[in-house]
Amino acid sequence: MTDTTQAQEMTDGFHLVIDALKHNDIDTIFGLVGIPITDLCRLAQAQGMKFIGFRHEQHAGNAAAIAGYMTKKPGICMTVSAPGFLNGLTALANATTNCFPMILISGSSEREIVDLQQGDYEEMDQLNAAKPYCKAAYRINKAEDIGIGIARAIRSAVSGRPGGVYLDLPAQLLAQTLDAAHGKRSLVKVVDAAPAQLPAPDSVQRALDVLKGAKKPLILLGKGAAYAQADADIRALVEKSGIPYLPMSMAKGLLPDTHAQSASAARSFVLAEADVVLLIGARLNWLLSHGKGKTWGAIPKKFIQIDISPTEIDSNVAIAAPLIGDIGSCVQALVKGIDAGGYQKPSAEWTGAIAERKDKNLTKMAATLEQNPSPMNFHSALRVIRDVVKANPEINIVNEGANTLDYARSIVDMYQPRKRFDSGTWGIMGIGMGFAIGAAVISKKPVIAIEGDSAFGFSGMELETICRYDLPVITVVFNNNGVYKGTDPNLNPNDPKDVPVTSFVKGARYDKMIEAFGGIGYNVETPEELDKALKEALASGKPTLINAVIDPNAGTESGRLTNLNPQSGKK
Ligand code: ADP
Repeated sequence: MTDTTQAQEMTDGFHLVIDALKHNDIDTIFGLVGIPITDLCRLAQAQGMKFIGFRHEQHAGNAAAIAGYMTKKPGICMTVSAPGFLNGLTALANATTNCFPMILISGSSEREIVDLQQGDYEEMDQLNAAKPYCKAAYRINKAEDIGIGIARAIRSAVSGRPGGVYLDLPAQLLAQTLDAAHGKRSLVKVVDAAPAQLPAPDSVQRALDVLKGAKKPLILLGKGAAYAQADADIRALVEKSGIPYLPMSMAKGLLPDTHAQSASAARSFVLAEADVVLLIGARLNWLLSHGKGKTWGAIPKKFIQIDISPTEIDSNVAIAAPLIGDIGSCVQALVKGIDAGGYQKPSAEWTGAIAERKDKNLTKMAATLEQNPSPMNFHSALRVIRDVVKANPEINIVNEGANTLDYARSIVDMYQPRKRFDSGTWGIMGIGMGFAIGAAVISKKPVIAIEGDSAFGFSGMELETICRYDLPVITVVFNNNGVYKGTDPNLNPNDPKDVPVTSFVKGARYDKMIEAFGGIGYNVETPEELDKALKEALASGKPTLINAVIDPNAGTESGRLTNLNPQSGKK
């Protein structure tokens, strides 16, 4: 007798998750293993995906978020349940706030135990916890829904205004089995994940009319413009219109900062004096003083705003001409309108006044930058980094801190788009090593992370990750012995040995930390030493940390955010 029953080929939840991601050309996962996702991560690697394992989920999430920003594909972060999920949630919320597409995939405990609150291992209702902090949150309960669930997460992350998506995978789901052929059929390839959204012709005409009526127009480029990857269209608009422009910090390099029309060195002047402002992928939030007040001067403004999200319009001030659509399509429509004729470039009076301000401010800044105080200050150290980036424009810059962020943003010019990653919309610290790892993995180009000593502390343990994957990340810690400055006194009247609330260990040697993991450390006290260390690090391509000793007196409380820092009655 012959056996006629055919052995049925089976698959399971683990395989289907990886198959579904690969089916959508996702090839990298940032995460941290543990119950119940360890085998999922192993399988990802075994199936040819790149798995980058971190020491803390927040940094894995930040790496995924910046990968999403760089590629317009959702970055994937994978975590364990409860605390691992919550650590990742900080990054998911930050990604959503910044409009970066990412998907946080977390394993979770069994539904029936969680819902009856019977005390499971790492029990938590993660789906509901995630909802307020992301663009969308989904749970997949059946293996045959993995294909559609992942497709839904991808589309939610990248379509319209990009953002963070949470995907809940209960442990039971991963172990569920399914007929392999059925599993294969259940996979979904997302077609046109972020479709072009064309602006309405009358909106385009309205915007052109406002632009034509401008005497002192200004273009403001935000990180939405950088994200859109419409670089050539944006350049065409700027150059054909002849309008001066200001890049927000992460839009630096979309056009080279040295472009003749850049008004960065006359920022206060143009914001106060402009009469028509064209916002491209930039929100009128706190970073732009909400579009009102002293920053914006006495000249009445008319705003034209290009954004994919209709509810962004009129969020802070009235928008005269909203242009809703994707940035590429909107900018192309404006260029077409300009090409059609009837538009006049801004007067020489306006551009000349800006050029005059720029010259004055740049001369002043050059004099400050040329000084060589001892100990080094932010300016003399940043001059060195500025020159290294000028000679190597493909370098990615990650930047966080208070003074370190403020000074680096204005001193270090960028020459290529999507090369500067920083504290972003929330103005936060803690993104440093996560962004640096994400940027290095995605671009395969060197990264210089310019870190305040306080900012670095949030993610410093990821130096081990950088060394483990041998990434070309050069971390420069601007070490002035404390938060803001290293000179605060101890205010405790009862304990003369108490520690000031803003101080760190004096003379700390952060360079020794990376040596523990086989990386290269430098301790530098002069611009010449910093220059030498940076060049050696770039040449070697090895994980490097440069402890740059900065004058503890340099810097100000809260950097340039002094106005946001409520002060007690102290003098
Ligand atoms: P910045 O901080 O640089 O000023 P924001 O993050 O405040 O920039 O603004 C980015 C804006 O860009 C968001 O309002 C977002 O909706 C928008 N945006 C993102 N991607 C696109 C796109 N492809 N097309 C149009 N608008 C976009």
